Amino acid sequence: MTERLYYNNSYLKTFVAKRLSSTPKNHGIAIILDQTAFYPTSGGQPNDRGRLGDQEILDVFEDDNGNVVHLVSHEIASEQPTGLIDWERRHDHMQQHTGQHLLSQAFLTTGRLNTVGFHLGSDYATIDLDTDSICPAQLDLAEKLVNEIVSENRNVSSRIVPPEEVPQLGLRKESQREGPLRIVSIEDFDVSACGGTHVKQTAEIGGVVIRKTERVNRQVRVEFVCGNRILKAHRSDSENLTAVARQFSVGLAEAPERVEKQIQENKYLRKKLQEKNRVLAGLLARELYRLAREQQGLKLVRELFEDEDTEFLKLIIQALHDQGPFIALLGCRRGGQANLIFSQSASSRFDLREALVESCKLIEGKGGGAKSMAQGGGRKVDQLEAALILAEQKILS
Ligand SMILES: [Zn+2]
Repeated sequence: MTERLYYNNSYLKTFVAKRLSSTPKNHGIAIILDQTAFYPTSGGQPNDRGRLGDQEILDVFEDDNGNVVHLVSHEIASEQPTGLIDWERRHDHMQQHTGQHLLSQAFLTTGRLNTVGFHLGSDYATIDLDTDSICPAQLDLAEKLVNEIVSENRNVSSRIVPPEEVPQLGLRKESQREGPLRIVSIEDFDVSACGGTHVKQTAEIGGVVIRKTERVNRQVRVEFVCGNRILKAHRSDSENLTAVARQFSVGLAEAPERVEKQIQENKYLRKKLQEKNRVLAGLLARELYRLAREQQGLKLVRELFEDEDTEFLKLIIQALHDQGPFIALLGCRRGGQANLIFSQSASSRFDLREALVESCKLIEGKGGGAKSMAQGGGRKVDQLEAALILAEQKILS
């Protein structure tokens, strides 16, 4: 089994190892060394990156025998390559991971909430709490406690413990592993079984900030950031909020209220517009009906509307029903989208569906419906007029 140097020293950035094997794998070479400082993906923490010999590390993972496998794209020349850890990435992981230990213990201490899952992503980390709801006050309490522990700069230590001593340790979460366990302790606060990489003093975490919560599978997922990620998240939030506030020419603090006001205003305007559209559709229907040619005892209304949607066309059709016997062949275009709606009064018996299917071919689209009312759409907006004429010819023949 590969000796894991990061167990004893997570600050080791470079090391020399003996290459034990090289095997082709996934279009690359899988290398096993006698020892390594590279952390393999496990326990919710992603793998380290960096260089091994003259090659970039693509992936680091564990095999079934407990070895650490380093995936590189080409064979390395040296039998005793030097490994170089991407320290920025590793240290970030150490901050987030140690922060997670604190946060999990804080939720247990303040709210008797157990952590059942952990994931460390590239922008934020999450823990899943064994509860179906959590209130803001509980979050505040846990966050406050965590940051106290951070600022007290407590020691973080690790050691290997034989299995018979494990029950006396009072682990935060029982371990499923057999044999000796690696125990990570945060001075007078948390004791966990963990194989990850951690900072050695809590102040180095730099702070823990809860970003949001959501319910996932009857649990609560808590998103948080530690260390430099706090700054990054703050900058990004600040930029976004500034952009919103600038749109409304208000200060950052007034932005949420201003957005809310805008939403209410939009709702009101949309309702007003609907009312006016209904009136306009009624007037248009009457006028279109008056001007339409009479064919076989009914009025044939054929009309193309610019920059309108099908909702407006449906209002016109509704209003046409109050006028008398009709066939309506209506089209509209908006933003590169061509739409057709054909309809007729209850007493008419033409097959509008068949006409519509033919017309839709012209606008390179498709549609369907019933004989009495059919609807379709396509993208050839310049063929709408031709599509309406075709439909008329088809119906009158
Ligand atoms: Zn850990």
